[in-house]
Amino acid sequence: MSVIQRDRASLWHPYAPASGTLPLWEVEDADGVTLRLRDETGQRHEVLDAMSSWWSVIHGYRNPVLDAAAKRQLATFSHVMFGGLTHEPAVELAERLVAMAPSAADRPRLERVFLADSGSVSVEVALKLAVQFQTASGFPKRQRFLSIRGGYHGDTFAAMGVCDPVDGMHSAFPGLLGANVFAARPPAAGAPPEEIAEWQAHTEALAQEHANELAAIIVEPVLQGAGGMFVYAAACLRILRDIADRHGILLVLDEIATGFGRTGELFAAQHAGVVPDIMCVGKALTGGYLTLAAMLCTGEVAARVSSGGAGALLHGPTFMGNPLACSVANASLGILDGGGWRSDVARIGSGLAAGLEAANAFDAVKDVRTIGAVGVIELNTEVDVAAVTSAAVGHGVWVRPFRTLVYAMPPYISTAEEIRRIAEGMVAAVAEVHGP
Ligand SMILES: *Cc1c(COP(=O)(O)O)cnc(C)c1O
Repeated sequence: MSVIQRDRASLWHPYAPASGTLPLWEVEDADGVTLRLRDETGQRHEVLDAMSSWWSVIHGYRNPVLDAAAKRQLATFSHVMFGGLTHEPAVELAERLVAMAPSAADRPRLERVFLADSGSVSVEVALKLAVQFQTASGFPKRQRFLSIRGGYHGDTFAAMGVCDPVDGMHSAFPGLLGANVFAARPPAAGAPPEEIAEWQAHTEALAQEHANELAAIIVEPVLQGAGGMFVYAAACLRILRDIADRHGILLVLDEIATGFGRTGELFAAQHAGVVPDIMCVGKALTGGYLTLAAMLCTGEVAARVSSGGAGALLHGPTFMGNPLACSVANASLGILDGGGWRSDVARIGSGLAAGLEAANAFDAVKDVRTIGAVGVIELNTEVDVAAVTSAAVGHGVWVRPFRTLVYAMPPYISTAEEIRRIAEGMVAAVAEVHGP
């Protein structure tokens, strides 16, 4: 039996039925921006990975710097528990994250770091922290969260509860998700001031109405990722900062998709000059090598929770602070420190904008947009995922469309020529399946 046949007999895939009917490719090898695949018939394909393996592999596959960091740590120790023990890789990572986090002269710094094993878990920890903060501050009834429509924050229960209530998975688990409060999706980037003022009035009224039961506001800053690759007006983030301050509610920014340069700033919050009280990072943190996420908070929030009734932040994963993952993360952040990401992201952004523009003329296409190193083709109808994925593989590009969206978030190391081929392949696949 082939690997794909054996897979079909025993594995689950993301958001999929047990015996998948969607096409599946086996990865035999990966290097730089290239994946080498085998399809179900055994035929080989070489494709450019436009997905960065779900937005994480920013420095490419088999990156020599990241490989060396992993090997160095492997030769020292791969894992130790984090209860009562510590190690250089975790300490260095915390220091690096604190040093690079968004900051402003008039705001408390994000200076305390909790290491988690995935993005969803870091969101769980952020939400727990916010509730514990409110309880420690004398507001034990503040146990709900304000979010915005169209958001995505992960698949665990508390995280699901702050995802978009319609497009998320709320309807499948009606009795189990928190009764949270949702403001309308903010106006798109470039919206006129009146539209933003209208959204502001609506959101302020909603926060006012629920102020006594809200622990925190949680949003993805500026770019909503898995909720629809939607770019909203940065001014809305400043409005949320202001609402949170006025009511003593914490502002949690989920930078798991947007962090580490993807939108053109190191963190998307910096498009708005906003500093949150709590920030979550993940995905690209280890350059896509290992699963790791982090929650950062201000010293004040950390101190309040630590002196509260519980006397501790109530979370502690088995693999917290995994040394292998921390070492690779340090190597990845070291590459970002070099600063080359800024011109890489600009090159990819302009390449995608130029290359995807052709799709704007298609009847099936509603919108083409880019932000940072993200390029999106939005269709008028649901994408035929199987057909578009297969067509793109035929054109030498790996994409994983969802809902009405065919998008690219390529590795930062992608050359202008690779970006040209990615955009060309995406446009050709959309034309082939949904008509030019
Ligand atoms: C992917 C993602 C998550 C969840 O991260 P996992 O590592 O998949 O648990 C949370 N928030 C945002 C914005 C994401 O893009």
